[in-house]
Formats: sequence, structure tokens, C-alpha cells
Amino acid sequence: MGIFSKISKGLQKTRLSMAGAIDNVLHGVNEITDEMFDDLEEILVMGDVGVTTATEIIDRLRAKVAKENLRNGKQVRVAIKEIVAELLDGGEQMEMITMPSIVLVIGVNGVGKTTTIGKMAAMYKAQGKKVILGAADTFRAAAIDQLQIWADRAGVDIVKHKEGADPAAVVFDTINAGKARNADIIIIDTAGRLHNKKNLMDELAKIYRVIDRELPWSDRESLLVLDATTGQNAVNQAREFKNVAEITGIVLTKLDGTARGGVVLAIKHDLNVPVKFVGVGEQMDDLQPFNPAAFAEGLFDVAEDPEEEE
Ligand code: GDP
Ligand code: MG
Repeated sequence: MGIFSKISKGLQKTRLSMAGAIDNVLHGVNEITDEMFDDLEEILVMGDVGVTTATEIIDRLRAKVAKENLRNGKQVRVAIKEIVAELLDGGEQMEMITMPSIVLVIGVNGVGKTTTIGKMAAMYKAQGKKVILGAADTFRAAAIDQLQIWADRAGVDIVKHKEGADPAAVVFDTINAGKARNADIIIIDTAGRLHNKKNLMDELAKIYRVIDRELPWSDRESLLVLDATTGQNAVNQAREFKNVAEITGIVLTKLDGTARGGVVLAIKHDLNVPVKFVGVGEQMDDLQPFNPAAFAEGLFDVAEDPEEEE
């Protein structure tokens, strides 16, 4: 499946719900009214886009409609899609030039951190990169085992300690194994204990100190994983984590299971954190580098619904 059709399938529920409602408003519209803008704004807010971002989209839409003299629903639909693509654009590239580069993956329990790491490992390996994983979620033995399973599946190395070990020590050992084995990319799994902010902060600070010391010149990404099915809760998590950690990007998982894909807009625009990847399923190849144009296309192109083609 190509990137456009895969993301399109992942966004199917969101499209059917949010874009479907937008289409209902715009269908057969031959005159642009204030009521139309209000209806569209309400749909965006209901679709987890968030009030600030929904208002911004509608403001831009009003300006575009006036400037380009748009007259019917079809033109307005294309305009919304273009505005959404614009809002989502920028910052989605991973900055990983140095050898090694390091990716720290954080987020609360159950959002899909370990799964995402497995998918990323497979993706980079397929690109010919040498990947090494660090099992710094030492809180539960099962978490270490789960990362091991993904490492085996992806065919990459892993560094792990026993349950309860110091996460920063795992990071230290993973970095040194990565250096010794000429790894391109080191990916670190972490525990997600947001309920204890002080603990989390201390632990992350300690991990950052190890990275600062061992890899001072390396490119570093701190990816926050968020579960799209939780809607505005995901936005709140992003806000909280932004206060305690240096987040360079978001991975938004489980888009395939939710109609709340509009949350991407709230995260990118309200919080000003770029989305780097989206998860669209539980399999190894169900991770997509975030592509703003493909995403906007997948969100709005009802006519090209993959299910309808079959
Ligand atoms: P962690 O606690 O953050 O490490 O989360 P896990 O990686 O263990 O994932 C929790 C659950 O979410 C697992 O059952 C995964 O299969 C599932 N999951 C992760 N990413 C996705 C996704 O993109 N789509 C779907 N449908 N499920 C996912
Ligand atoms: Mg995990």
C-alpha cells in the first residue's frame, strides 16, 4: 500500500465522521453564508480540532473565500483542505544526521511507545541503518520482554538490564554499545509514570544528563507518544509533558481506531509541537512518517475512500 492509501485507510473513521459532516454542510451550497462558517467551525470543534485551531481555520477560510472569490461548497471544501495542509506543515522531519543519533521515546503507559519503537526500528533498518534499542522502561519485567520481542521481529540489537534497574544506567550502556557497534540510531524506551510528576522529571533529567555527557554532539529527538483515541486528553498530556521535558516531536498512535484524528491539528497548532509519525495499526509496517499533504488529503477526500473502491 502506498503512503497516501495507507494514511487514507488509517484516517477512515475520522474522515467518515468529521469530513462527512463537513460535506453534509457544504453539499449543494451555491451561496456562502455566515451560518455555513459557523456550522463548519462547530464540526471542527466536535472533531477534536480544538477551539483555538478551529477558529484559526475558519478565519483563514473566510479570508480565502473572499480573496479567491469562492462561490460554492466544492470550492470551499478544497480551500479547507489546503488550509489544513498549511497548518500541519513544518517540523515533521526527524533531525538525525550524526552517527549515532539518539531517539528518546516518552509518554504515559499504554499509548504505544514500545510498539512504535519496534516499528521505527524496522523502518530504519529497512533504510540500511544500524539500529540499537535500549530497554529503559525497567519498571515491569513484561515491558523489557515486549521490547525484546520487537527487537527480534525487527532484527535489531537491544540492551537490557533486569527489572527495577536504573533507567539511566540502561541508557548509558545502550549508548556505549551503540558507539562500539557503530550504530546509526539509538532508540530508548522509557517508563510512563505521569501520575508521579516529580519521579518522572527526576528520571528524565538523569537520562538527559547521561546523553549530554556521552553524546554531546549527537542529534537528539525526544518523541512524545500520544494515543489519538483519547482526543483532548492527548492534548492535555502533551501540554503537561512539554512543561517537564524537552519534546522535539509527537508520535500519534491508534489513528486507525478512532474518529478523533482532528486532534493532530490541535497538537500541531495549539501546542506548536510538530507531529513526526502517525501509527495506523498494530503491525510492523503500520507507522508512517508524518506527511502534512497526505494527511490533509486523507482527512478530506471522501471520494477516494479505500473501502468504496473495493
Ligand atoms: P506503551 O505502554 O506506551 O509501551 O504501549 P504499547 O506499545 O505496549 O502499546 C499498547 C497497545 O496499543 C498495544 O496493544 C499495541 O498493539 C497498541 N497499539 C500501539 N500502536 C497502535 C496503533 O497505531 N494502532 C492500533 N490499533 N493499536 C496500537
Ligand atoms: Mg512499553
